[in-house]
Amino acid sequence: MADVIIVGGGLAGLFNAILLNRAGLKVTLIERKSYPMHRVCGEYVSNEVIPFLSSLGINLGELNVSRINRLEVTAVSGTKLSQKLDLGGFGLSRYTFDHFLYQKALAEGVNVLVNTRVEDISFTDNRFEVTFPGTTLTAPLVIGSFGKRSNLDQKLKRPFFYKRSPYLAVKFHLRMDFPTDLIQLNNYKDGYCGVSKTDGDRYCMCYMAHRDDLRKCGTLQALEENVIRKNPYLDDIFRNAEFVLDKPEVINEISFEKKSPVDNHILMSGDTAGMIAPLCGNGMTMAIHSAKILSEKIITHYKPGSFNADKRLALEQGYARAWNKQFAPRLWVGRQLQHLFGNDTMTALSLNTLNRFPSVAQYLISKTHGKPFG
Ligand SMILES: Cc1cc2nc3c(=O)[nH]c(=O)nc-3n(C[C@H](O)[C@H](O)[C@H](O)COP(=O)(O)OP(=O)(O)OC[C@H]3O[C@@H](n4cnc5c(N)ncnc54)[C@H](O)[C@@H]3O)c2cc1C
Repeated sequence: MADVIIVGGGLAGLFNAILLNRAGLKVTLIERKSYPMHRVCGEYVSNEVIPFLSSLGINLGELNVSRINRLEVTAVSGTKLSQKLDLGGFGLSRYTFDHFLYQKALAEGVNVLVNTRVEDISFTDNRFEVTFPGTTLTAPLVIGSFGKRSNLDQKLKRPFFYKRSPYLAVKFHLRMDFPTDLIQLNNYKDGYCGVSKTDGDRYCMCYMAHRDDLRKCGTLQALEENVIRKNPYLDDIFRNAEFVLDKPEVINEISFEKKSPVDNHILMSGDTAGMIAPLCGNGMTMAIHSAKILSEKIITHYKPGSFNADKRLALEQGYARAWNKQFAPRLWVGRQLQHLFGNDTMTALSLNTLNRFPSVAQYLISKTHGKPFG
């Protein structure tokens, strides 16, 4: 029997698995899909995570990442804000990153089940039952790292699931002539599109759009032509880039509603605990940092064979407090920033103002990020 079952093998799940396994716990990680896989993500990772990755022996040089230290934000009018990124980040595709971590977890002895969709998680008599087709596993602890929206959110009746979100997102990989040290955030009606270098010779282009615009346009291609390419910087990219993936990755219903870091006694990590607006470029770092915080709490409070209800309560309360302290302010700033964009006039006005007051732009960037952690 496992000490911990982790449901969902994105960054949050994989880092929890590696850390808890290294601490001597028996870990089973269950992932619905198989690796390597593409995911909808801008693939820009804040440098906050570098000391932590180094402490685990992960060498970014080996992963062929690109270094990014400049930000441009553009509007349909052609207005552009240019900022140096003091902390900076790196570009790394989820195809490469998640697969690398999966192989690391396997090599270190984590029990990983792939192509396995968990259908239900229930808690009775101080232990969990985790059910997937044909099998039920039991464990004293379950980590929920099943991403921004899953069948399990509905099963667990999490309130955010019932508030429909109008946002969809699409990701491409491109080859093109574009600066390697730049992340560009290009705005248009009801959405924005991040462009930056990822590993190898590829660039990532990831956009968010409103369901009503897609409905009016009919197809993604028409949406790109009639809404997204109204931004001249994006039009230029669409004209000149080579699109590498056979088809784009697409997801719907991207919700920024508040969630809870502990629900039905399940310890939530990554997007399952709360998702920051993608324009902040900090979701992956938060997923990794939340895994570090959660694993440390589990290691402190959990001893196999003597984990009673009082110890569980202390673990749940300690984790929820630590999660809120570290991430709740960042999520709030992200939600406010999201309101500044989406309307062409408002976006141009915001960028012109920030151009005049660059220290305000730097302040806002710093408020959507944390400090380097190790
Ligand atoms: C448009 C967009 C752009 C973004 N750009 C950036 C960016 O540039 N930089 C950044 O840092 N962040 C970005 N993010 C955020 C980032 O992608 C997420 O915060 C990050 O992926 C969270 O990782 P996670 O491990 O919590 O979830 P995920 O990576 O989503 O992993 C969840 C896993 O759970 C699995 N799963 C779900 N249900 C089940 C089930 N029932 N059984 C088993 N497995 C299950 C899924 O298959 C998946 O593998 C962006 C997000 C969006 C939407």
